[in-house]
Order: sequence, then C-alpha cells, then structure tokens
Amino acid sequence: MSTYDVLVVGGRVAGAATAMLLARAGARVALIERAAYGSDTVSTHGLMRAGVLQLSRWGLLDELAGTPPIRCTTFHYTDREPEEVAIRASGGVDALYAPRRQLLDRVLVDAAAAACVQVRHETAVTALLHDEHGRVNGVRVRHRTRRTEDLRAGITVGADGIRSTVAAATGAPVVRRGQSRSAILYRYYSNVRAAGYEFAYAAGSGAGLIPTNDGLTCVFVATTPARMRALRRGGTEQAFATLLAETSTDLAYRAFAARAADRIHGWAGAAGFVRRSYGPGWALVGDAGYYKDPITTHGITDALRDAELLSDALTGGADLESYQATRDRLSSALFDATESVASYAWSLDEVRVRLRDVSAAMRDEVAHFSL
Ligand SMILES: Cc1cc2nc3c(=O)[nH]c(=O)nc-3n(C[C@H](O)[C@H](O)[C@H](O)COP(=O)(O)OP(=O)(O)OC[C@H]3O[C@@H](n4cnc5c(N)ncnc54)[C@H](O)[C@@H]3O)c2cc1C
Repeated sequence: MSTYDVLVVGGRVAGAATAMLLARAGARVALIERAAYGSDTVSTHGLMRAGVLQLSRWGLLDELAGTPPIRCTTFHYTDREPEEVAIRASGGVDALYAPRRQLLDRVLVDAAAAACVQVRHETAVTALLHDEHGRVNGVRVRHRTRRTEDLRAGITVGADGIRSTVAAATGAPVVRRGQSRSAILYRYYSNVRAAGYEFAYAAGSGAGLIPTNDGLTCVFVATTPARMRALRRGGTEQAFATLLAETSTDLAYRAFAARAADRIHGWAGAAGFVRRSYGPGWALVGDAGYYKDPITTHGITDALRDAELLSDALTGGADLESYQATRDRLSSALFDATESVASYAWSLDEVRVRLRDVSAAMRDEVAHFSL
C-alpha cells in the first residue's frame, strides 16, 4: 500500500495546480485522474488577470507558447456602439490568454510530475478510507484494468469537479446555493477576425469570441436552459445560429464567414454553489468546493487561485478554516455578480452595470496575489 502526505483527486486546473504547489513545497503527493492524459473537457477557457498572474509566477506562462495574447476586451450591446477595454500592463501581466484545456491542463500536470508528484491517469477514486476515529486517511482507486488499490495519505483533496466524489463521500454541506444557470453552445472556427476577447449581450442572451491556439477562435452562445431547450427542438445548428445572430449580427457575420473546425459542444447548465470545503483529513478545491455559472469566464482563474490558497494553508501552517474564509472573501462579490448576469433578467443598461461589478470583483484577487 502506498502512503503520501496528500492525495489529490482530479487532475485538471485545480488538482494539478494544487499537487504541483504542494510538491514544490516538499510534500509527497499523488494525483489521481479518471480521464486520459492530455484530454479535453467541456469548457471554454478564457483566463482572467489573476490566473495569468499565477501561471507567470509559477514559471508556466512560457509553456503556453502559441496561445495568442489578448490585449483588448470588447463588449457589444445591441443598443449602442461597442466598448473596448485595453488590457493594461500591471503586476507583470500585459496580456490575457485562453489556452485550450488539453494544453493548459497538460502543462499543469507536467509541472506537477516535474515536481515529483506521482501522476496516475485513467484511475478513478471509488471510495474514501477512514481511520478508527472516522478521519479520512486515503482512497480506494480502480484502474483501467478494473484492479482496485488502496492509497493512504494525511490529507485527501477533492479537486474532482462539480460532481465531486470526495464531496459526496464526506457529505460536505452546501452553504450557499445559486439560482441562475446558463445553457451554452460553443464551437471552434478557423481564422475569425477577433480583436481579443469579444463579449456580446442582447435581451436574454449572451455570446462571445475567445481566440485560442492553432488559429482557432471559440465562438459561444448562452441563454437560459428553458430558451435553449426550446431552440434546440429545431436542431442544435439552428439554435447556435439563431442565438449568435440575435445577440450580435457583427459576431455572427464574422463567425459564419469563417470555417467551422469541429462540432458544436453543449452545456445544459448547473446552479452555482459553495460547499464547506474541509473536514477531518479532507479538503475541496476548484469547482468541487465552489462553482459558479461559466458566463463570467472565471472558473479556471478561481481554481488556480484556490489551489494556491489551499497549498499555502496545508504547507504554511494556516488552518483550513482560514483557507475557506479567504476563498469566500475573494469570491463572494463575483458569485453575486455572476448570479445576476446568468439570470438573463436584465435590461442592457442593467447588464452593463453588472459587468462592471464583475470587473470590480476581480480586483481583490489580483491584489491578493500581487502583494
Ligand atoms: C461550458 C463551460 C464554459 C466554461 N468557460 C470557462 C472560461 O471561459 N473560463 C474559465 O475560467 N472557466 C470556464 N468554465 C469553468 C471551468 O471549466 C471550471 O471552473 C474548471 O474546469 C474547474 O476546474 P477543476 O479542476 O476544479 O474541475 P474540472 O475541470 O471539472 O476537473 C475535475 C476532474 O476530476 C476528475 N474526476 C472526477 N471524479 C473523479 C474520480 N472519482 N476519480 C478521479 N478523477 C475524478 C474528472 O475526470 C475531471 O478531469 C467553463 C465551464 C463550462 C461548463
């Protein structure tokens, strides 16, 4: 039986970053991921300033070479001219990036392996193990061959996403639940003319362009799940085209003049939540502990932030209560603002105010890591 200081369940942005940071601080860590090495996941991938700042501090930004720098964000509304916001240089960050997940997640996993984390892909955690006092002290895993194995550790970290096995097994209570949810469709196009991130809003819908690797641009549309279900009765292609055209004729014109590089990907929507994220022998990080609607494109940035907060708490002697308190302090305004944007119950004047709230909410996290 193998024994570690920390077992991390889930090997994407939250888990791989947590494992890497813990191992760099000297911990003996194993990272267990059900999916294959280098696989994609259902997610667009716009990073915000704090996420880029962290990748830079961790020495990983150069590994994303080939990902185009984003130097401007443009907001489109159906009732006025577009508003451009230049990405100003600060805190060592002069551009944002939107690396594909199969690249970003792989870079983080490779950095974890380079720091001596034992990385195990295609291995699923099926149960938690406990000592005689009920404290979590490891996991049972099932390999691709169906062989099972028990692994022991002082702390087990659930970085296993919104349907977290670790959260379910520990009964981690939801302490805050959101109401809003976006249903999203996205697809990659070659050679779309895009000025950087471009986000568009119309009554009841949103859309956007996110330039990424290999000359591709992710084009997404979003609305309420009920509206999306109704539109998809006429076919997914039709729903995508209708939502894009009604949200921004400009974005639709540019996307449809380009070549579609793959199929349409869909997300049905899930309500946000905050879970109590620690207990005897366990902790949660990333979406497993705190999830909000993707419309504000901030989940990856949050996951990287929380990986660092958790790693600092586990290696620096801070308690897990303060990890959770810092996470909640840095996320609560963004959670509120995201809830409002994802409600789609706004006028264009109102959504502009809410987007400014989103932007203001991001300042604290940047300040936290710029110190
Ligand atoms: C449609 C959509 C668009 C999005 N767009 C953006 C965006 O533009 N920008 C942004 O910042 N965020 C975006 N997000 C949010 C972002 O994808 C998430 O916040 C982020 O993936 C969370 O990372 P994570 O590592 O916590 O969890 P995940 O990425 O969900 O990874 C969890 C991992 O755990 C593994 N796992 C689960 N259970 C087990 C188990 N029992 N054993 C072993 N492994 C297990 C899974 O295989 C998975 O790989 C979007 C999300 C969606 C759905």
